[in-house]
Amino acid sequence: MNVMAKPQSRYDVLFEPVRIGPVTAPNRFFQVPHASGMTNALPRVRAGFREMKAEGGWGVICTGACSIDVSSDDTPLPMATMWDDNDIRAHAMMTDAVHKHGALAGVELWHGGASVMNRSSRIAPLSPSGIPWMATHVGFMGNLRPRSMDKQDIRDVLRWQAEGARKARSAGFDVVYVYAGMGYLGYEFLLPEYNHRSDEYGGSLENRVRFVREMIEVTKEAVGQDCGVALRISLEELRGRPGQNLASEAHEVIALLADVPDLFDVKMDSSPTDCSASRFTGEGSHEPVIDFVKTLTDKPVVGVGRFTSPDTMVSQIRRGVLDFIGGARPSIADPFLPNKIREGRIEEIRECIGCNICISSWHDGVPVRCTQNPTAGEEWRRGWHPENPGRAEKGERVLVIGGGPAGLEAALTLGRRGHEVTLADAGSIFGGRLTFERTLPGLSAWNRVVDYRLGRLNEMPNVSLYLESRLGASDIADLAPDHVVVATGSRWSNFTYSSMEIPVGRITHPNVFTPDDIAAGRLPVGPTLVFDFDNYYMGGVLTEHLAALGIPVSYATPAGQASAWTIMTNELPLVHRALAKRNVPVTTLVTVSAFDGKAATLTQIFTGEQTAFACENLVIVGLRLPNDELYQSLIADPAFLAAAGIKTVERIGDALAPGAIVHAVHSGHRYGRELGLQPQPFRRDAPVVDFEPAFTSRAGLAEG
Ligand code: ADP
Ligand code: SF4
Repeated sequence: MNVMAKPQSRYDVLFEPVRIGPVTAPNRFFQVPHASGMTNALPRVRAGFREMKAEGGWGVICTGACSIDVSSDDTPLPMATMWDDNDIRAHAMMTDAVHKHGALAGVELWHGGASVMNRSSRIAPLSPSGIPWMATHVGFMGNLRPRSMDKQDIRDVLRWQAEGARKARSAGFDVVYVYAGMGYLGYEFLLPEYNHRSDEYGGSLENRVRFVREMIEVTKEAVGQDCGVALRISLEELRGRPGQNLASEAHEVIALLADVPDLFDVKMDSSPTDCSASRFTGEGSHEPVIDFVKTLTDKPVVGVGRFTSPDTMVSQIRRGVLDFIGGARPSIADPFLPNKIREGRIEEIRECIGCNICISSWHDGVPVRCTQNPTAGEEWRRGWHPENPGRAEKGERVLVIGGGPAGLEAALTLGRRGHEVTLADAGSIFGGRLTFERTLPGLSAWNRVVDYRLGRLNEMPNVSLYLESRLGASDIADLAPDHVVVATGSRWSNFTYSSMEIPVGRITHPNVFTPDDIAAGRLPVGPTLVFDFDNYYMGGVLTEHLAALGIPVSYATPAGQASAWTIMTNELPLVHRALAKRNVPVTTLVTVSAFDGKAATLTQIFTGEQTAFACENLVIVGLRLPNDELYQSLIADPAFLAAAGIKTVERIGDALAPGAIVHAVHSGHRYGRELGLQPQPFRRDAPVVDFEPAFTSRAGLAEG
């Protein structure tokens, strides 16, 4: 492990330097702007997060959207700002950290236009013609419509962009963006549906492009001597519109701007297509939309597509699709992806599984979390390095019981720290819940969580792996470890809740199933209702699975939509599409209050009205309970532990608190990292405050 292998020449092209105007990127690995949930209020967390990617070999590291003015205020979503000197200092921590590793730092300057609600600044949002953007995600909805911009407003935005660019240069950025994508202000000028203007900024395509062109020009004028100026543009919608002289309006826009920026960053238009989950979309999905750009400009082009395979990357370069391999999620899942390719350690790449938990973090307004990389967001806060968990002072014998995501990650981290690890699982293969879940429609890529860890564990001489080993107390005593960690997972229950969200007991009947029954091969026969109040993926994907097996299946939920939480991972529209494709009837806003083998009683959650829904089987996808009996029995018997020489017993993952895979991996990692160490205080970041505004109390004002 970690031995420098001979560079594999077929990947050398990925390590060529590329010029971006006056600056040069050391290689083709470009961490495109992506939300980190870290804002300027967490500057050290952010700097640590971005620095890790520079250390791992990414040649360009960018911020997420960074507002140029208070009229672009997306709060409470966690956006960055470039408004004042405090912001410059906050960003400088990141650029300094990135530069230490020889990478370039980029900033995505941004004005949200009609897509922001200015909830905090309370300024009427700006737009070309007063046409609102229509959100379907409740977290993005607002009840304030934008106003139309006059010429002075346009001049103001151009000035804010230039000032933002100068501040960015002062903060140490090498690449400065103009943003014309994803429904934001520049994009709104491009589309005639948002832009009804009759002046020189509306009407013909040339006029609609004018605002974006001027944004690039003022940026170049402000900092173009020192910084590369990038245009980030969404092309999906424009590509679908026939052009007058070229194949599409996307072609025409690129042709009109071909020489203006130093770099094109090209992408899709909305989060669900731009950053789609692997459940519904494969690697390289942007190519059909962006493949033409390089034929119309000599400037370098960066694009994304959840690239994790170095051969796909090389193919993108060799076929003339891209100059830079853009990565957001692949860089979160493995900050060291470029170095691993350069050193020929391909099998060590921690490939992104495309679950979009990282995106849910932004929707939640918190620092990024990643299923594959438990150290994401913890680089500064907990001091976690993704490749180096540090050596334990003293190697000890640790028994990990359960080889699901939590147990695998714990074993891997413990092994890397030099402990002597035994990992035992009752099943015939490792993977825990993923053993079944990876077989469900669209979830095969999720098994990368298992493949990556098992691959590394198999290489470790200090780790022993045992399958078909359901351990009880006497087996544990025989093994006589110093420490036991219980990662025995959880089980689905038949509990239900009332419309008041109060647990009201179990529904028991021979024809009631849980996902565990389906996983064990016990399948319903005849009309089946899946009742889902777990609200993440399992209810929806299990329904798809049963439908694919030919079982007549319907879906019901107390939420307003199927798999309601998947709005957080960009999957919800596609879950509905998948259920519709399989003709699955979906009933929302109901609980199941009874079931007798012939019908389920559905209770409308607002009116209490009850209806009988004919079905012979009921699959309840709701509450999971920890499998913690083994843990409880061990800690209940201190004499047994003392006799066996066991110093500590802990539980992790779902056995501690049932959650998503991301939680289990984090829990396993934390255990492995912290075994034998003093508990670390939780480091709390603080904003940069060079210029502290004064506060005078009301009482003070009255006295004055
Ligand atoms: P998590 O998500 O927390 O990792 P999983 O449910 O995915 O949890 O995995 C739990 C694993 O623990 C399963 O593979 C299961 O076979 C295993 N397991 C449960 N009880 C025992 C036991 N007593 N001995 C060994 N393995 C067990
Ligand atoms: Fe990839 Fe999931 Fe990690 Fe996001 S959270 S980077 S989608 S593995």
